[in-house]
This record gives sequence, structure tokens and C-alpha cells, in this order.
Amino acid sequence: MSVPSPEQLLALDRQRVWHPYAPMPGTRPPLVVRSARGVRLRLADGRELIDGMSSWWAAIHGYRQPALDAAARDQLGRMSHVMFGGLTHEAAVVLADRLVALAPDGLEHAFLCDSGSVSVEVAVKMCLQYWRSAGQEAKTRLLTWRGGYHGDTFMAMSVCDPDGGMHRMWDGVLPRQVFAGLPPAGFGAGVDEAYADELRRLIERHSGELAAVIVEPVVQGAGGMRFHDPGYLRVLREACDANAVLLVFDEIATGFGRTGTLFAAEHAGVSPDVMCVGKALTGGYLTLAAALGTAEVAAGIGRGELPVLAHGPTFMGNPLACAVAGASLDLLLGQGAAETGAAPLYPRGWAAEVRRIETGLAAGLAPAAGRPGVADVRVLGAIGVVQLDREVDVAAATEAAVRTGVWLRPFRDLIYTMPPYVTGDGDVAAICAGVLAAVSAATGAGRLPPQGANPRPWLSLRAVRWPGGTRPSCRPGRAGTPTARLAAAPGTGRGRRSPAGRP
Ligand code: PMP
Repeated sequence: MSVPSPEQLLALDRQRVWHPYAPMPGTRPPLVVRSARGVRLRLADGRELIDGMSSWWAAIHGYRQPALDAAARDQLGRMSHVMFGGLTHEAAVVLADRLVALAPDGLEHAFLCDSGSVSVEVAVKMCLQYWRSAGQEAKTRLLTWRGGYHGDTFMAMSVCDPDGGMHRMWDGVLPRQVFAGLPPAGFGAGVDEAYADELRRLIERHSGELAAVIVEPVVQGAGGMRFHDPGYLRVLREACDANAVLLVFDEIATGFGRTGTLFAAEHAGVSPDVMCVGKALTGGYLTLAAALGTAEVAAGIGRGELPVLAHGPTFMGNPLACAVAGASLDLLLGQGAAETGAAPLYPRGWAAEVRRIETGLAAGLAPAAGRPGVADVRVLGAIGVVQLDREVDVAAATEAAVRTGVWLRPFRDLIYTMPPYVTGDGDVAAICAGVLAAVSAATGAGRLPPQGANPRPWLSLRAVRWPGGTRPSCRPGRAGTPTARLAAAPGTGRGRRSPAGRP
């Protein structure tokens, strides 16, 4: 078969391929990526873009890292996959042992699965099975706070922010969970006692039916890129202990250094009973996630009528992914380099690079604060967020960033970046310039719909030119009235969820 041209690829893509939160056939032509190296994506038309997204939190070391390529090749030379039932292999065993050593105290066992959402399913199953095994069959519900995101499978969706489009769409299908209000915004804002009491009261009131509390620690990602004080994690830990409820931390986005500590739980000095990791686990090379549990969770399940954790995906513990994950941990932690003679990727340590990027993002995004249409600017670790007072015109904002040579993927009212840790200072500055250009495009003309104007935000689509012609616009034509809310209320913007393209 001959190699299709970029135009043919796009035509086929539109006809055949579903993209995340996208209609079929597609209405917005994606950019065709031919290759990637370091922090740059090379497009089919020859343009190069600096990656401001780390492929949705995952590619922390950038692309085509020689050590990761070598690990994949080496493992391919042995086996790319083998079933995990009745068989085991070095890559999975060593990885599980390392994850346990790195994770917060008390997490002793790892279930290696295919994706973040699946690890959330497994984590919830661990908790439900734990209580079922203890004869407490009524403990089947979950508690979380609003503004969260835990994946797209059904149990994971049930603990996503209930104001989003998906809850409305799946009303009557999703299990009904218990929701606390949004955690008050601000990483260092301190604990609001009234909110802490709300958490305590809800956990106590529902303790008879609660299997677990599940939250994203410190940073709520796709639910709104909000940061909260780590003190709330201590409040949750204490309330869960006092009321016989398990605590699950979803570190799928925050894990492996993104917020400045290896795991976000470390900001609070708190260990959960179950923790999910994924995304950056393989340095963004392959899909792999894990649900880690305590010895007590494992023992509790083992005391049940069915004394096994009832889960076992086909690609569990995939050797290729586990081998690359091991090499990615080596890169991150500066281990293994001495044996191979390779120079360490982070000679000053990964944390110094995350701090350096944090400083660069804070300086580069500061000019956005106070601009008309900007509600808040916030930075934590290698995460930079500009929140608008309206829904972002994703096509216009993306296009503006691309014109500056930067790849961004805004969603809802957020233009944000989480660059690879290897991004140099000049590229961090360029990414910030891309964010500012995207902000200008999204706010400049004042013609965008204000947040909440579109009752079906996942249909927020603009007319775009496809190779085969222009698709009709689904976007309602109401004009927005930009109002300036200067970075006064961090993270309080409550735009409707626009799932299209969220991380
Ligand atoms: N939890 C969190 C916090 C996430 O950010 C994501 C992905 N955006 C998931 C779960 C789901 O992971 P996956 O997309 O790998 O299923």
C-alpha cells in the first residue's frame, strides 16, 4: 500500500477515526504529526511545534529519549507481551517493587493495568471488595469533592464533577455517589475550617454506606485545573480513619514530580489506602497504570468468600510498557546511568528542573494576569494555568499558539501548559508566549460566547476548512461580554465543562 499524503490521511481520519470527545465524522482537522524529538513535534508539513502539553501529562522526558528507546528495543528483543495469569517476568516484578519503594508509606502491593481509567476501576473494586469481604455489603458508595476527574469508564465517570455534561448525559446510569463542595482554591491558602467540617460531617453521615473517599490530591486536573491546600488531604485521612472509610488518591496526573514532589500526597505527608498512577509512569511511551494498595487492603480482600482480587486484563503487566516504565524511573531518579555510562538526564535532580520550569512559567504567564477576560493565573510545579471568564474558542486559541510555534490544547475556560521536564528556559518562555497568544485570540475580539452560553458544550465547534470542504458550525452565535476579573479569586471560575479535548 502506498504511503498516504497528509491530505489523504486527514480525509481518512475524518471518515474513520474517532478522536477524544469528538463527533463522527470529525469537524476540526487535527494536525498530522510525523515525528517528535526532545520537546518538539514535527508536523507533516514540516513545521515544528514546542510541546506545551507533554502529551497530556505523560511525556515528562520529551520524545525519543535514547534510554527509553533502548529499553523498548531491548525488551522487544525478549518479548513484547506475555499473559500475566500463571506467568510473571522481570520487568513487571522489578517495576512493582520500585513503585512500592517510591510510593507513600504503607502501599505494599501493585496491580499493573492498562490505563488510568482502568486503574481507577481497580482501585474502587479493591475498596468495594475489601468491605464486602468484611461482611459490610452496604459499603458500596464513594465520596469525592466537586471539580474532580478520574477517567471515562463508568465508575470513574461517577466520581467526576457532577456539573459536567457527562453526568447529565448519564443520569440514571451512573452510580450515585456522595459529593462535597469544591475544595477552596489555593495551594497555600490554608485550611478553611468550615469546608473541612463539611468534609468531616459528610464522611461521618454516610460512613455506613461509604466504601471509600477518592480524590485527586492537590491538583484537580481535567475537572478544572484547580489547586487546593494539602491540608485537606490530612482532614480526609483523619475523617476516613475515624469512620472506617478507605482513602484513594488518584495521582494519575500529579504523580512522578509534576507538582514539585514525587507524589502530590507528599505535600500533605499523608498516605492513602489505595493510590492510582499512570500517564508519566512510562514517560509517555506506552499505556500503563497501576493501583497500589496497602497490606491491610490486600489482607481484607483475602479474608473474603472469594479471596482474590477479581480483575485480570489481557494486557496486565505488559512487559514492554513495564520495561520502559523502569527506564523512565531510572531517568527521573538518576539511577542506572552509572551502569550504562550515559550522562544523567537531570544532573541537578528532577525536582530542580520542575522548580526551574515553575519559575519560568510564573514569570512568563504573569503578563496575562489583569488582562481583560482573564479570571486567574496560577502556577504550581511544572503546571501553568490561565483561566478565562468565558469558554475558550479552542480552535482560535490553538491556532494562535500554533502560529507562535507552540502546541497547546485548551479546554473549557482554561489555557494551560504542563511542559516536559527537559524543556529549556528559552522553550518555557516560548510556551508562555504561546499561551499569551492563545489568551489574546480567545479574549481579544470579544466575540466569544460567555461561559454557560452553550447548553451542549461538547458541541462547541467552529466551522473549519477540511480538505473536502467546510463543515457547518454547531456553535451558537451569542456574543460574549468580556469582563475583567483580575487574578483575585484563584481557581474559582465555574465554566461549564467542555469535554472536547480535555486531558
Ligand atoms: N485520573 C486522572 C486524574 C486523570 O487526569 C486521567 C486522565 N486525564 C485519568 C484518571 C484517566 O486516565 P486514562 O486517560 O489513562 O484512562
